[in-house]
Amino acid sequence: MQKEKVVIIGSGPAGLTAALYTARANLDPVVISGSQLGGQVAITYEVENYPGFPQGTSGPELVELMQKQAEKFGARLVIDEVSEVNLKGGTPFKIKTYGETFEAEAVVVCTGASPKRLGVPGEDALIGKGVSFCATCDGFFFRGKDVVVVGGGDSALEEGLFLTRFANRVRVIHRRDQLRAGETLKQRALSHEKMSFLWDTVVDEIRGNGKVEAVRLRNVKTGEAEVAQTDGVFVFIGHYPNTDLFKGQLEMDPAGYLITDRRMMTNVAGVFAAGEVQDPVFRQVATSVGQGCQAGMMVERWLAERE
Ligand code: NAP
Repeated sequence: MQKEKVVIIGSGPAGLTAALYTARANLDPVVISGSQLGGQVAITYEVENYPGFPQGTSGPELVELMQKQAEKFGARLVIDEVSEVNLKGGTPFKIKTYGETFEAEAVVVCTGASPKRLGVPGEDALIGKGVSFCATCDGFFFRGKDVVVVGGGDSALEEGLFLTRFANRVRVIHRRDQLRAGETLKQRALSHEKMSFLWDTVVDEIRGNGKVEAVRLRNVKTGEAEVAQTDGVFVFIGHYPNTDLFKGQLEMDPAGYLITDRRMMTNVAGVFAAGEVQDPVFRQVATSVGQGCQAGMMVERWLAERE
């Protein structure tokens, strides 16, 4: 059993910023990485809207810099996943990973969010065989191929534009006739010669024998269905919060996002949350960093008040 002052669960921008602030407050935090060190931004090819990088930066580079900065002040990164927590019993909180058990006076939950699935036949069976949720990870395998992107938000267009570097054709399939994405990405995507759009259309099935070969599409206005050949299906239809570990222990909204107060504290005193696990609205690196900073500062105050 390792006794710690602060354990931070998750190593995305929120977790690494909470680590930086608690490390600088001499709290010697432990950060448990989770399955993806650096979180979602670590698999983002380009970040153009994080202040301080006028030329843009890559997700992995940004994560590496954040990690280095937190470690410089004494944060300790543990590469492991949390399997179980006991937060309801009050301090010390218990956090079990696959390798160790920690006791902590304060906890910051920064477990982020994961991509939603379509939930159609063929999707699960063809993941890694043409169905993907990450263009940065898998785009390279589609050089010279034809892919479809599902969704009409910023992620769909950003990742779709990235895919044009490899694929011959990128068809965006959107369930409405208006894109949700912001103006800059919208203009870039609509005018890109390799991108085209299928409006008012949903994917009802992904077909393929060992690899993606086609999608069955349906126009939601006319009901007309067609089968379109394709080599890849990239799904970007939003996210759900990674809060399964905390069910029955921390208060959540109906969509499963953790509920925090103005101090980033959950319903359990001493348990804080930051980043996308508690933010269904902004979901930016900049906002996650801000929330991680707030949580880190509040942990320090909360521990000081208790002493
Ligand atoms: P999002 O904004 O929630 O968009 C999800 C898209 O998927 C919407 O167009 C939605 O359609 C569609 N969709 C949802 N469920 C669907 C289903 N079951 N079947 C088919 N289509 C479905 O998600 P996101 O694009 O991941 O973006 C999330 C947040 O991150 C946003 O705040 C976004 O601004 C931000 N973000 C920003 C950047 C950037 O600034 N560069 C990049 C990526 C993400 P409807 O439009 O009909 O609802």
